[in-house]
Amino acid sequence: MPKRILFIMSDTGGGHRAAAEAIRDALILKYGDEVQCNLVDGFRSYSPFPFKYMPELYPVLIQYSKSSWGVGYNLLNTKRRAKLAAGAIYLTAEKRLKRMLREYPADVVVSVHSVLTHISMQAMISQEKRPPYVVVVTDLVSTHHFWYDRRTDRVLVPTQPAFERGLEAGLKPEQMRVTGLPVHPKFAESLVDKAAARQTLGWDATLPAILMVAGGEGMGPLFKTARALNDKNLKCQLVIIAGRNKALKEKLDECDWNQPTHTYGFVTDMPRFMAAADILVTKAGPATISEAAIAGLPLILFDAIPGQETGNVDFVVENDAGVFAPSPELVANAAQQWLSEGAAGLARRSEAARRIARPNAVWDIADEIWEYAHQPAIKSKKRNILKDVAERAKLLNDLIPGGLSS
Ligand code: UDP
Repeated sequence: MPKRILFIMSDTGGGHRAAAEAIRDALILKYGDEVQCNLVDGFRSYSPFPFKYMPELYPVLIQYSKSSWGVGYNLLNTKRRAKLAAGAIYLTAEKRLKRMLREYPADVVVSVHSVLTHISMQAMISQEKRPPYVVVVTDLVSTHHFWYDRRTDRVLVPTQPAFERGLEAGLKPEQMRVTGLPVHPKFAESLVDKAAARQTLGWDATLPAILMVAGGEGMGPLFKTARALNDKNLKCQLVIIAGRNKALKEKLDECDWNQPTHTYGFVTDMPRFMAAADILVTKAGPATISEAAIAGLPLILFDAIPGQETGNVDFVVENDAGVFAPSPELVANAAQQWLSEGAAGLARRSEAARRIARPNAVWDIADEIWEYAHQPAIKSKKRNILKDVAERAKLLNDLIPGGLSS
């Protein structure tokens, strides 16, 4: 009988699905028919309104109320508040989450989503016996308290700062491991030579190529940044990926450009694009940064989602993998300077970017999950109904400003 692995993720941004698919495919490449994986969107399929619409709401929230998102993120980023918020979500989603576990019986459960980590654990311990639970943290550095639940069996983190934050949240060092962020195993394999990649894509063979992308959803000031680069009249070619943002793609296509410029919607062969480019202008998305490092593509970061991506900027800058240029003009200046340093300068920056790459992360994570899939189910502690009721009453009391007695 194959080992059944349940991945709990959500399509809030592109990174969670990408991580789950990367690990799934590594497991299948290594263990073939011996493994059976299911990916479920814990918000879309197993949460009530409004959480059910998180995949649609998330890009809108980030695009139009970025600063409120940051405030909310920071407000909930303490051990107690994260627990309280997760507890409140659990109260509304409990039945559905238990149904998810019934519909997908598993030998190991893997969470690749911060908010879904705690609430899924809560549903699991309500069962008499539960499979081992592994958490793969898919934010890079400024990881939220939501990620860390002391009851989980193994927590695989992408960087040392994410490990330290786990310790602050009360996890034991032996519970965690720094593996790097999982990038699809095909990514490194598909990094064909630059000339071949450019030929397939139909780009100029000799002009330096500046690749622009802003996550799967094409978020943030990508358009203005592209126009600022255009105004510099640099000796280069521009490649702009709008992702799923159709309005942005249309707007880009209506423009006249001063240099050879290629625009794309959502692309499915990112390794080819990264192999063909010389500079990546992007928001500080964890998956994009990790992929760029493997491709040896230096980064000009123009934006970061407040909260979960804030620390990524320091990580890139401190490791010399790129610079932070938080306005269209600063991006254009940085690109101009990099291009003025010629091929030798770009090669040096490319080497520096490569130094933060963790191409083996996905294999290390797959091995860990495989090991846990072979461990016996874990008996949940006997639940005391009176204690349960008391805990829920306390949660409700904490959620109401001033408490129930006010
Ligand atoms: N991506 C892609 N095609 C696109 C745009 C993005 O495959 O047209 C991928 C990108 O390679 C990365 C993910 O989407 O794997 C974006 O993840 P990231 O963590 O950078 O940002 P998010 O979208 O989660 O905010």
